[in-house]
Amino acid sequence: MTARIMNGQETARRIRKQLKEKLQTLQIKPKLAIVLAGHDNSSQIYVRNKQKYASEVGIETQLYAFEDDVSVQTLENLIDVLNDDRSVNGILFQLPLPKHIDAMKLLSKVNPLKDVDGFHPFNMGLLQNGDFDGVIAATPKGVLRLLKQENIDLTGKNALVIGRSNIVGKPMAMLLLAENCTVTIAHSHSENLKLLCAEADVVVSATGCAKMIKKDWIKKGAVIVDVGICRDENGKLCGDVDFDEVCDVASYITPVPGGVGPMTIAMLLENTVEAYLKQNM
Ligand code: NAD
Repeated sequence: MTARIMNGQETARRIRKQLKEKLQTLQIKPKLAIVLAGHDNSSQIYVRNKQKYASEVGIETQLYAFEDDVSVQTLENLIDVLNDDRSVNGILFQLPLPKHIDAMKLLSKVNPLKDVDGFHPFNMGLLQNGDFDGVIAATPKGVLRLLKQENIDLTGKNALVIGRSNIVGKPMAMLLLAENCTVTIAHSHSENLKLLCAEADVVVSATGCAKMIKKDWIKKGAVIVDVGICRDENGKLCGDVDFDEVCDVASYITPVPGGVGPMTIAMLLENTVEAYLKQNM
């Protein structure tokens, strides 16, 4: 068996095109405020990409860049200003924030209607209640969109989510539960991860452990989604899954790069457009 590759690059391009057309038709220009603290290389690249694609779609961005030692008070003051500014539709904090800042506590100050990342406890709570009217975190939302696009039947399937972070693992598990999967969440303390994988029809891995998931872990025909962004022993970008070998046993698989990453940005842009519409229509 050779797995069908779920091409996030192509799907994301199509979503951005549709968003651009929608904004042109409605003649609106949403605005996204992006907050970056520190000089982390990867964060700077992610922010540049978000700005580039936002601009391509017709979303204005405004970057607020701070040094590593920015105070919590400064960021809270900025949130107050952005919350009150009617021209700002979305507020995004590029994570991770410097260690002295409790990111989740800070993000809880953002107006939930402008929380385009879906990390505010209000939006996370709605998702937990099975209510999809809030903002859904971009990465899990993008994963589900990829699965839906392939018409993969999720009902009753054993889904294993590896990783329990607030931004990927937990919301991913909630979305799969809402699709009637039987969901297991594994994490760094889980015993027998290999055994859990062997029973899973769908695996979504978000650990950051390079090429941890091997061919002999995977049930034949399983659907594999790789959220991880890692470097292999040669410094090359890769995911949590040993792509080349797992391709032989999986039915569907996402590559890294070109899988979940572009979908995350596309969903962030979609969330920003939806935030504008909720605030103005
Ligand atoms: P995190 O560090 O907050 O969480 C990692 C999770 O993985 C934890 O719950 C931990 O318990 C679990 N874990 C770690 N090692 C494990 C192991 N050996 N076995 C089982 N579980 C293990 O990270 P995060 O923010 O959730 O991100 C996870 C990965 O996804 C990272 O590589 C990150 O770069 C990537 N990511 C990618 C996108 C994207 O758009 N593609 C978006 C967000 C995060």
